[in-house]
Amino acid sequence: MLEKIVIANRGEIALRILRACRELGIKTVAVYSTADKNLKHVLLADESVCIGPPTSTDSYLNKAAIISAAEVTDSVAIHPGYGFLSENADFADSVEKSGFTFIGPNAKCIKLMGDKVEAIKAMKEAGVPTVPGSDGPLGDDPDENLRIARDIGYPVIIKAAGGGGGRGMRVVHSEPSLVNAINLTRAEAEAAFGNPVVYMEKFLERPRHIEFQVLADKHGNAVHLGERDCSMQRRHQKVIEEAPAPGLPQALRDTMGERCAQACLEIGYSNAGTFEFLFQDNEFYFIEMNTRLQVEHPVTELVTGIDIVREQLSIAAGEPLSFTQDEVVMRGHAIECRINAEDPKTFMPSPGTVDLWHAPGGPGVRVESHIYNGYRVPPYYDSMIGKLLTHGDTRDVAIARMRGALSEMVIEGIKTNIELHLEILQHGAVLAGGTDIHYLEKRLGL
Ligand code: ADP
Repeated sequence: MLEKIVIANRGEIALRILRACRELGIKTVAVYSTADKNLKHVLLADESVCIGPPTSTDSYLNKAAIISAAEVTDSVAIHPGYGFLSENADFADSVEKSGFTFIGPNAKCIKLMGDKVEAIKAMKEAGVPTVPGSDGPLGDDPDENLRIARDIGYPVIIKAAGGGGGRGMRVVHSEPSLVNAINLTRAEAEAAFGNPVVYMEKFLERPRHIEFQVLADKHGNAVHLGERDCSMQRRHQKVIEEAPAPGLPQALRDTMGERCAQACLEIGYSNAGTFEFLFQDNEFYFIEMNTRLQVEHPVTELVTGIDIVREQLSIAAGEPLSFTQDEVVMRGHAIECRINAEDPKTFMPSPGTVDLWHAPGGPGVRVESHIYNGYRVPPYYDSMIGKLLTHGDTRDVAIARMRGALSEMVIEGIKTNIELHLEILQHGAVLAGGTDIHYLEKRLGL
């Protein structure tokens, strides 16, 4: 196993990684910005290194500072968590070239999947179904682009090849706005991602977001851990996730999961990854692959009993997967609510001091959060301060437990979206299951 690793992240995920390391006897090094010296995992880690001021670009995105933290502490590997540098191929490359293990796939795979146009091409070749679209980057010829859109049929969506985090996308409903929309998206993509390449896809009107979790080792073994339904979204950001996806036929789950696992082998992928799909009228359409651990990974852990972070660490250490596809057994239903420090009506971030914190508990309840009484939520980072998960034999039990757990959870001093979750979990359509990705925004009147 790895002896000592640097956790190049913050918040709940840094704590999650630290806990997995402790269980495995791996020593931990926390790196933190000056705004984060009191983060729970920083206080718990074997060692900690300050890597810069609060601004992410000067700290959590500072590649050299993170690699030198690994050097001065004699660490052997770096876990990037999610966000920040987790999908940065240059970082993965520098980590490896500096003699450390990057806990994730190789730089080549990150690069391939980071370019959505290339990713879609690779997936098509691997037999994974994709959204009807431009099959490559859009050129500068307006007539040609109008023709492509006409062939696909309106509405279409213009997307940035280098996009991420729900940004760099624009829906076009009819011909007169197409050319302008392409130009705008291109300019935004250039400014935000340093990559002006855009492509076009059919805009699916009422899809669900269903994604498959995979694990692949460095010895040519790949398995899938089933799917998660992440259709409850606001502004393309996931709010609630669950597994399994309500109503998904077992045969379709098996076929899709196997295709994803197979695609990993074809592109030489190792470690944890997620294939994201839109799902409409019983058809799957690949949209992107996330080459890292995801926020919602514990949903899958609850239904499979597999510790994904532990697997990531052992894969990175060069171990073969310790189980086969047949040994992956799904049990019951799990659901996750993302707890954000934000105003439940305006969604404005609400940083500040947590005056009072009571964590819920009981059978089938899991809390992933770094907050504690007196913890100060800094204004510089993502507003997610934790995740609340429940598991039960059936979806109804998981939801009932989630309602109970949300009502038990007390966070005072800052505003949170706990009430919003409670409200969502009353809706008839949500209880029935299978709502599409536009449901929440429509219900909220956004
Ligand atoms: P990002 O990398 O920014 O998360 P994705 O390609 O994963 O971008 O898309 C994010 C979200 O945008 C999806 O979950 C879905 O809500 C919406 N979306 C993307 N492509 C389409 C499409 N072709 N039709 C309808 N909605 C889409």
